[in-house]
Amino acid sequence: MKRIKLFLAAFFVAALTLCIGTAGLDTQGKSGLVVVLDAGHGGYDYGASENGLYEKALTLKLAKHCKEELEKYQGVKVYLTRSSDRYVSLDQRVEAASDWKADVFVSLHINSAPTASAQGVEVFYPNSNYRPSVSVKGRRLAEQIRRNLVAMGLKNRGLKVLNSGVSRYADGSAADYYAVIRGSKKAGFPGIIVEHGFLTNMSDVRNFLKNDASLKRMGVADAKGIAACYGLTKSDGPSDGLTKTKLTKLVGKASSSVSLEWEEVKGANGYEIYRSASKDGTYQKIADIDKFSIVSFRDTSVTRGKTYYYKVRPYKISENKKKTPGFSAAQKVRLLKKPMIAVKAQPASRMKVTWKKVSGATKYEVFRSSSPNGAFQKIATVKGASSYKDIGLKQNAQYYYKVRAVGTGVQGKTYSSYSAVKGKAAK
Ligand SMILES: [Zn+2]
Repeated sequence: MKRIKLFLAAFFVAALTLCIGTAGLDTQGKSGLVVVLDAGHGGYDYGASENGLYEKALTLKLAKHCKEELEKYQGVKVYLTRSSDRYVSLDQRVEAASDWKADVFVSLHINSAPTASAQGVEVFYPNSNYRPSVSVKGRRLAEQIRRNLVAMGLKNRGLKVLNSGVSRYADGSAADYYAVIRGSKKAGFPGIIVEHGFLTNMSDVRNFLKNDASLKRMGVADAKGIAACYGLTKSDGPSDGLTKTKLTKLVGKASSSVSLEWEEVKGANGYEIYRSASKDGTYQKIADIDKFSIVSFRDTSVTRGKTYYYKVRPYKISENKKKTPGFSAAQKVRLLKKPMIAVKAQPASRMKVTWKKVSGATKYEVFRSSSPNGAFQKIATVKGASSYKDIGLKQNAQYYYKVRAVGTGVQGKTYSSYSAVKGKAAK
């Protein structure tokens, strides 16, 4: 990947606004381009607020729409610096991007001005100091996004560079004014700030900011700008012929095991399974199954009590590259901790089995056997209680119990592992 980029750098110098790039999954499935989308502001930092709209909410919508669109392309990994309404400092945003090994950082904002007439799009990119190649790359992307937003009807305010009057780069040159642009450059990748219209301008509000449909169009325009700049191609091109799959089953099989099933996709060479700890979080590939006929997987590298999201995509290998129509919808499963139980012999040959409630469980199954390692039989399903009274037993006989928690899943039930076996003699 990197080598090809260096090779292409010669072209970039010759034609600054010509966007060429590299993309595509290699056969190891490592994604090529890492894009970090940064929804400006959040939490107690509202950003601009005008006309009943809050910048922090609009930028989050833009980021999510942009991510959704961008993930339709091959060979790209997209991260959000925040995926909910929370405060993240500017330094934290760039640090996270650096940890994710970002190739580019795109900060999404909405403008405001003291004069109501100011309107349209402007994009800030890194100055040419310190690391000129970062500036070149940032400008290329800024230009592509600016062009797409202007094509939607936003007024063109152009590309901009803003220097800090105080801050300097390591070589003594004037640093970029904006912290995320400056921080990104220090970390070695371009950071740009896209200002999507003005909250203080009635025309921008009416045409672009007030409704979700136009926010989505802007997010998509940003994504298409990124895709064009880096030469990404859409996964669901007609050449693939593959269709997406669908998770048909997702359940916890035991406290630390998840079982998945999905629809077979004709023509696929295999499937990639991705998992995340949150719906809009970072999905990581956990398995690559290289047979189209295998449509199930058991994930045993999970932690009890946690919630996981899964999605699956089929792929076809052609010319040494993976082509995929994209991911199935993500589905959620919550793993159940195994119950802790106690068994108490009660008068009249009764046994009381009690357990601590398991978070996420909807009911409990109680099993009994006459020996600790013998065959256990399910004797009760208990809903809304955390104990069970077993009656009509034989005096002095030994009874052994175990309990498992039951929860919901996709097209099936989620089960915890069995509790430890506890036994007593009946009184
Ligand atoms: Zn802002």
